[in-house]
Formats: sequence, C-alpha cells, structure tokens
Amino acid sequence: MTTPLVTEQVIEIIYLISATLFILSLKWLSAPATARRGVFAGEIGMILAIGATLLYRGIVDYKWIVIGLVVGTIIGIPLGRVQMTAVPQRTALSHAFGALCVALVGTSEYYLRAPDVPKFMMSVLSMEVILGSLTFTGSLMAAGKLQEILPQRPITYKGQNVVNIALLAVSVAVAVYLVLHPGETRLFPLLIAIPLLFGVLMIIPIGGADMPTVISLLNSYAGLSAAAMGFVIDSKLLIVAGALDGSSGFILSVIMSKAMNRSFTNVLFGAFGQVQVSAAAAQEARPVHTATAEEAAAILGAANAVVIVPGYGMAVAQAQHKVRELYDALSKRGVDVKFAIHPVAGRMPGHMNVLLAEADIPYDKLLDMEAINPEFPQTDVALVIGANDVTNPAARNDPKSPIYGMPILDVDKARTVMVIKRGMSPGFAGIDNELYYLDKTLMLFGDARAFVGDIVRQLTGEGHG
Ligand code: NAP
Repeated sequence: MTTPLVTEQVIEIIYLISATLFILSLKWLSAPATARRGVFAGEIGMILAIGATLLYRGIVDYKWIVIGLVVGTIIGIPLGRVQMTAVPQRTALSHAFGALCVALVGTSEYYLRAPDVPKFMMSVLSMEVILGSLTFTGSLMAAGKLQEILPQRPITYKGQNVVNIALLAVSVAVAVYLVLHPGETRLFPLLIAIPLLFGVLMIIPIGGADMPTVISLLNSYAGLSAAAMGFVIDSKLLIVAGALDGSSGFILSVIMSKAMNRSFTNVLFGAFGQVQVSAAAAQEARPVHTATAEEAAAILGAANAVVIVPGYGMAVAQAQHKVRELYDALSKRGVDVKFAIHPVAGRMPGHMNVLLAEADIPYDKLLDMEAINPEFPQTDVALVIGANDVTNPAARNDPKSPIYGMPILDVDKARTVMVIKRGMSPGFAGIDNELYYLDKTLMLFGDARAFVGDIVRQLTGEGHG
C-alpha cells in the first residue's frame, strides 16, 4: 500500500522538524545552563519522528508495533531511573539495543531483497550489519565490565591484536564478496556471526576504567550503522540522526582521549591501569602532613579565596550535597568559593558538572580547567575532594610518568592544599601523587561525605551544640 502524497509530505515536514530538533538538542546539551532544554528538544524530536513513521500507509498491521512500543517502554522506564554513577553502563545498554535493532533490520532487508541487491545498497547493508553486530556484543561487554558482572581487568594474550584484526578482515572480505555476488545468501550469516564475536574480543583487553571512552566510541559506531540503515530504508532522518550520533560520539572520544593524554590505540590496545598499580603499591610509605576537620574548618573559614576540586571520590561518596552545604557555609562567611572542573574528573564526561548541578551549585561557580588554572596562585586554599590524577604535578614534571603531558589542574600553585581521601591509594592511573608530600599540603583522611560533613559542622557551630 502506498502512502498518499499529502501524508508523505506531512511526514517529510515532521522529519525535517525532528532533524532540526536533534541538531539544536546537541547544541543546547553542550552548556549546563541550556542542557535541560537540550534533553527536552531531543525527546520531542524523537516523539515526532516515531509519530510520523507510524503515519506510513505501508504499515499493514499495527499489532507488532504496539507490542514493541509496550515492551520498549517497560524496559526503558527503569533504565532511565538508574543511579548517576551507573549512567555509563546504562548508556552502553542503549547502544546495544540500538545496534541490535540496526543489525536485525539490515538482515531482514537483505533477505527481502536478495538476490537483486544493487552494489551500493549491498555495501551500506553490509556496513550496517557489521557495525550493528559488533556494537551489540561490544556494548553488552562494556556494560558488563562497568557493572562488574564481568571481570574489569584487561584480559590479554599473545597475538590478540592479530586475531582481532584478522576477524575483522574476514568479515570485510565476505562483505566485498557479497557486494559482487549478492545472491550468495548462505554467506550472509557470517556477516553477523564474525562481528558478534569480534565485539566480544575487542572489549576483553580493555580495562573497566577505560570503558567510558570505549562506550563513546561504540556510540559512534552505533550512529554510523544507523546512518547506513538510513540509506538502506531510504530515510533521510535516520541518515541525519545517525551521522549526528556517529560524529558526536567520535568527537567525545577524541576529547576524552586528549584530556587523558592517551591515543586511541593506547585506549583500545593499552590494557591501561594494570601494571602501574603494583608499581605504586611497591612504593615505600613517605611522611605526609595531616589535619583534622576542626583544623581544616579553621583554615577554610579564615581564607579569602577557596577553590574546590571535585573528583571521582566525591562521586563514590555521593558527597555533592555536603559539598553544597560547605559552599553555603563558606559563602556566608564572605569566602569566595569556586569549583575547578577537569574534563575527565570522575569516570564519565560531565560527571562533576552533573553531580554539582544535582546539588544546585550555581553554574557560574563551575570553572573549567583553562579558566581556573591562572587563578590558583591567588587562591588561599585548594580543597581537593576525592580527586587524584587530575591534580598530579607529575603530568607536568615527570617525563617518565604514564600521565606525563596530560593537562592537569594546577592545585599545587595554591597557597595551601587540602586533600580529602580515605588513604594513600592511587587513582585511576594507578600512580603516586607528589602533591600529597608537599609542605603546603594537608591530608584530610576520611570518606569524602563524612569529612566534608564534619567540616561543615565545625563551620556552622553545630558541633559545639
Ligand atoms: P582518580 O584519579 O581516579 O582518584 C580518585 C580518588 O578518590 C582515589 O585516589 C581515592 O583515594 C579517592 N576516593 C575514592 N573513594 C573515596 C571516598 N569515598 N571518599 C574520599 N575519597 C575517595 O580521580 P580523578 O582525579 O577524578 O581522575 C579521574 C581519572 O579517571 C583520570 O585518570 C581520568 O583519565 C580517568 N577517566 C576519566 C573518565 C571521564 O570521562 N571522566 C573516563 C575514563 C577514565 P582513596 O582510595 O585513598 O580514598
């Protein structure tokens, strides 16, 4: 059944509006002040796109579509309610579902069209199915590692990269053969099976903590496969949305790799975070200066300018609301308090921004690395809360350090540095931090939420009631 011309035009106009909303959504999402509007624009765009698609007269039966919508909603609602710290694995699961959908649509399109599949169509179809299948298993593996259902540590063996590249090469060779001989339907299952296996093997050598970067790369693959699907089913909206997804995922991976001073090859093949941990553990205990919550409160209360540097430990301890109370208590005393946000602090892009926004800390107090670094020499106290690698001066001074060259927050240039963490354990990169041994540094040992709470009590006098 064909769709009447008027309906077809209405559908195209709605698709155009959806595509515009997707573009605006990405633009708005790039700043905290407009991020909510960005999410809303994306949601409306997606609802319009689904609604317009349902207008197609080519749909012969709505029964399965309704079942799909109901099942999707049942899975989607709890997925949307996960803890903030579980967002990376939740995102990986959405990629897995999207990629599975792309691979299934590609498979059905092939069997509907074979043996008469034009060369261009067969090329994009192969790309769709290969990328969709490897993204499906790759994303499931990434989610499993992050959720710690699967072992987080990198699993490596000799010749691993050769095996992986050979598998990918075989699937590309099968795709080329099918482009030339699209009637060879018995070969098509290989286009699904080999990339499914490749997706698993691709993730095995990557450490759990590198997963956020990998997930954003898989995001890019999922987008590219969706764009390829757009060519196959002749949907301009899918081509636009897939291209946006593909390019934004890729750009994000590049930004994250740069901020960690790592190359893609290092993330994908580096088995990072494994060797250095033992090196740090082997180090001899060196003396550090420590202070109590009472002492810390006295120093903070007497300061003019304080910069708070949040990191992964603040997220683990869920200390953001206590940090807000500290911000309020200090601001009330006339202390100028700012927050220094490193692009890869925490374990996912925007991790600190999201947590601090959740605690209603004003956006204009959140300064990114380039803006805050020149201010550290005039800062009385840099208060580091559960951050480690993003403050490590070795990135500037020690060419042998694995993080050498990574841009860092120059907290060691502040007059006094205070660091809240539970002990002397290293952070993500698994290395010791010179910052802790400086004369100007005071270590405040304890859980971030409890310790910040104690400081707040001292400042507000509650502790003496
Ligand atoms: P980090 O270097 O991983 O250090 C976090 C510190 O928090 C640890 O040293 C730990 O020390 C402390 N900590 C843990 N739980 C705590 C608690 N309950 N209370 C107080 N402290 C606690 O963190 P970061 O400075 O934020 O750096 C992020 C790292 O992750 C960078 O190396 C970055 O490259 C990497 N990374 C980031 C992303 C991203 O997108 N943001 C993605 C992948 C990798 P104790 O155990 O002694 O308490």
